[in-house]
Amino acid sequence: MIDKSVRELSEDLHARRISSEELTRHFLSRIERLDPRLNSFITVCEERALAEAREADIRLAEGRAGPLTGIPYAHKDIFCTEGVKTSCASRMLDNFVAPYDATVTEKLKQAGAVMLGKTNMDEFAMGSSNETSFYGPVRNPWDTERVPGGSSGGSAAAVAARLTPLATGTDTGGSIRQPAALTGITGIKPTYGRVSRWGMIAFASSLDQGGAMAPSAEDAAFLLGAMAGFDPRDSTSVDRPVDDYLARLEDDIAGLKIGLPKEYFTEDLDAGMAKVLEEALAVLRGLGAEVREISLPHAHLAVPAYYVVAPAECSSNLSRYDGVRFGYRCENPRDLEDMYKRSRGEGFGAEVKRRIMIGTYALSAGYYDAYYLKAQQVRRLIADDFRQAFEEVDVILGPTTPGPAFRLGEKLDDPVTMYLSDIYTIAVNLAGLPGLSAPAGFIDGLPVGMQLVGNYFEEARLLNVAHRYQQETDWHRRRPPEFD
Ligand code: GLN
Repeated sequence: MIDKSVRELSEDLHARRISSEELTRHFLSRIERLDPRLNSFITVCEERALAEAREADIRLAEGRAGPLTGIPYAHKDIFCTEGVKTSCASRMLDNFVAPYDATVTEKLKQAGAVMLGKTNMDEFAMGSSNETSFYGPVRNPWDTERVPGGSSGGSAAAVAARLTPLATGTDTGGSIRQPAALTGITGIKPTYGRVSRWGMIAFASSLDQGGAMAPSAEDAAFLLGAMAGFDPRDSTSVDRPVDDYLARLEDDIAGLKIGLPKEYFTEDLDAGMAKVLEEALAVLRGLGAEVREISLPHAHLAVPAYYVVAPAECSSNLSRYDGVRFGYRCENPRDLEDMYKRSRGEGFGAEVKRRIMIGTYALSAGYYDAYYLKAQQVRRLIADDFRQAFEEVDVILGPTTPGPAFRLGEKLDDPVTMYLSDIYTIAVNLAGLPGLSAPAGFIDGLPVGMQLVGNYFEEARLLNVAHRYQQETDWHRRRPPEFD
């Protein structure tokens, strides 16, 4: 059952060869048996999932079902879920039960998908290794001494170990694509504005975007199709019809123009990674794609610009956690100021505090122009680089990460090295473009991914190219051997 695609599972459900309840029980029992080794879930919603499954079975029996009806999924614990703890992996929200559903949660409910539980993540989505979670690190199923990537590391590990067929993620600087790459699954971050941020706990509002994580591009297309769409409650949501991602999967890619940024393919590129990408390009050429060099001259400025913009926005977004209205409150405060200080001091972890301090500094009078404004200007240059590139090519291909998964603890004491894990993904968020990571091979037994970047609202094309590639390769079918 765990090797079946979402399409196959959906066909089985519609043909009543299997019930959603059976399917849900199967994945719940895998979570119970295998997740103690991964720590990929913060909350498992057994009873609720079974109730949703029974409801889905009724819809299936009555012919009121859609493609995702009865299919289980795991939800990153950053999306509000009515009646279910929504912690963002922070002590600050450890006691928070959301009083409402995020738009994405609502949409998945309407589609009839079955929520198995809420997945572990870096605290407030700040991190690249899932080690900043209040609930402890997530482990990579390919080697449990290694990180799964972050911040959507719980979702990635859960999908990779097939504890769930699908999972949601969010990506502010790479948090869907990087963990997807490091766990050997497919992850897509759509264009900024394609998936509603309403009810998705904010980190850096101009960069945050929800997306889909799954073994294959086809599976991801099922999930993204249900998540995407205009939402009047999110002022940055874009009012434009959602493409039929599934209908476009099989499109011919003969004549597709693939751009390789010369800034990525230098001698600094890991030799193993270079070989993996070369092989991937050979497959795509075999399908008729044409490859040419392009340039993203400001690529090297993406990480520094991001580490001004993202902390600046987070320092503002996280000011709402003050111990007054919801979330953690310190015990026996002496006075109001003591309550603010200790609630925030005790409720937030070290990485979150570091970001708040950097952001507050960058936004303070006298430094605003030098840092924040400058970073916004750089952001524009980065977006312009992409704009020019897309005049020549249809998609841009590169590595998703500098290399395979690193060891737990390896980068924890060195934030700058940690920040460089996202060197290939961050520019895409700064420009607001869609990006996808697909499994493309292994280095020393560990999975790595290739990243495809498309022009605005070209999600369908990214899924199409990845799907055609996956019809020729089987990287996305490989599973970590110890998680049968
Ligand atoms: N690793 C990056 C950070 O820590 C990106 C995180 C994300 O995309 N949420 O900011």
